[in-house]
Order: sequence, then structure tokens, then C-alpha cells
Amino acid sequence: MTLIDTGPQDPATLAALREGLSARGLAFKDIRRVVVTHAHVDHFGLAAQIVAESGAQVLSHARNRWWLTDFNREWERRYEFYHDVFQRSGAPRESTDAAIAGMRRLAPYAESVPPDRFVPLEDGDTVMLSGEPWRVVFAPGHASGLICLYDAASRALISSDHLLRDITSNPVMEPPIRGETRRPRALVDYITSMEKTARLDIRVALPAHGELIYDVRALVDGRVAFHRSRLDHIEQQLECCAQTPYEICNILFPHLKAFDTFLGLSEVIGHLDILEDEGRVRLDASDGLWRYIPAQKS
Ligand SMILES: [Zn+2]
Ligand SMILES: [Zn+2]
Repeated sequence: MTLIDTGPQDPATLAALREGLSARGLAFKDIRRVVVTHAHVDHFGLAAQIVAESGAQVLSHARNRWWLTDFNREWERRYEFYHDVFQRSGAPRESTDAAIAGMRRLAPYAESVPPDRFVPLEDGDTVMLSGEPWRVVFAPGHASGLICLYDAASRALISSDHLLRDITSNPVMEPPIRGETRRPRALVDYITSMEKTARLDIRVALPAHGELIYDVRALVDGRVAFHRSRLDHIEQQLECCAQTPYEICNILFPHLKAFDTFLGLSEVIGHLDILEDEGRVRLDASDGLWRYIPAQKS
């Protein structure tokens, strides 16, 4: 038996999962493999407990190795990185501290799995599910190590948080993976990944949250158009004057608090990355603070 994502490490989730399995005459000890679509605590939090009871392997994209097997150290790296990003983005100290405190509250929802249980996956690999070969589709963006699974026979895509029907997925900002120096450009990657999945022949996408998706092409077109109009909107905000990501975040989302400020900043920085790539804005970091200015001004 293969379980795809586990839910967070939380008593209610644990009970619900045990009950769901037991209703089918199954238990944790029957689980041979856990596929983790991406390294967010609501997707892999219970993996450690399941592995402890079953010895299951944990299959996930190679990029998720440290997050899954060295969870506490990875959190510490992120606190440092996000603290730095908040400061450079012009966020006040209180807002930075509140966002980091919000992140710390997520830490108890997962634990590391033993490194010898981790099996790295890459784009194009095959995972056999009920005798059918499901193809690993690497789709970074919402998370830098996100994978979907695609079955050509049923034309079904397990889309995780990559495609959600009723909300846009946040392009969550991440530090550079260990061994790299550049942080992922989350929204740049995300739009590329959406185009990649839209080219698959999909009858139905099964997201990790919410309702099934039957028209992936239309959903992707809508999402890309939404981001295009937000790019224009942010560019307009910069016509008057150079602004920091935090200032732009306050214009777009005026009432964010604590952890939500992090999501807002991720959204803004994701768009600024694209504007910069497209040569529409320029980053001035000469005094340590990130200020974005229209490219034609000097
Ligand atoms: Zn997620
Ligand atoms: Zn999720």
C-alpha cells in the first residue's frame, strides 16, 4: 500500500487517518511507501510516525531530502533566511518577529524521518500504484521540491498544492537549498510548471485541498492571466517612487498579520522576480535595503 501525503502531525489527523485505514481493514503497519508531494508540514507531518510503525519508505523529490530527514536544522536555516529577507524587504522589527513566531508554531506539526528510509525521486521517474505506472512530474513553484503524479491510462493527475481549484497557490519563498547559493525564483518556476502540466492530456486533476479539477487548461490560463494583471498592478505602484517589497505588500494586502505577512511578502517578491527577469524593474540594494525602481529610471 502506498500513501500519498500524510497530513500534519496532530492528534485529530492521526485519529482520522487510522480510522480511514481501519474502515478498509488496513493499519499503518500495512503501509509500504509514503509518497510526499512536497515538504510542507500538512503533507508530510505524520510520515515519521508512520515509518516508526511500518518501516515504510518515504519517496519524495530529491530536493526535499534535508527538509524530510533533518527537519529541525532546516527550520533553523529558514528562520535565519526569512529574518534576513524581512529586514531587507523593509519590514519593521515587530512584523518580522511576529512572522517568525508564526512559523515557529508550525514546527511541532512534523518530525524528521530516518535518512535510510528516504528514497529520492526525479522528474520522469515512475511510481507503480495498483499495477499502473504513474509518472513523476516535477512542478516547482508553490514549493521548490513539489511533484505531481500522472497516469496516462486514466489521464489523472495527482496535483497536490500545485493546482487548487478555488484558490491560487502561494509561491512560497524558500532559502537556497543546501549546497546552492541562489534562492528559487518561486513564481517564475510556478508559471513554468503550470504551463508544463497544462500540456499533459488530463481528464481530472486531484488536488490536495478542495474539489476536483476537470479543466486544467482553463484553470492554468486563468491563473497566468491573474498573475499577469498583478504584475501590471505592481509595476504601476512603482511609477511614483522606489519601493521596498514590504511597502508593496502593504498596498496589495493592507491588513496582514504574523505568518500571513510572510505569505504576502512571498507573493510580492515572486512578482518582483518576474518583473526583474522581464527587464521592467531594477533592484537597488546599495544601502542593504531592497528597493525596486522602474527599469527606465536611474
Ligand atoms: Zn503546500
Ligand atoms: Zn497543502
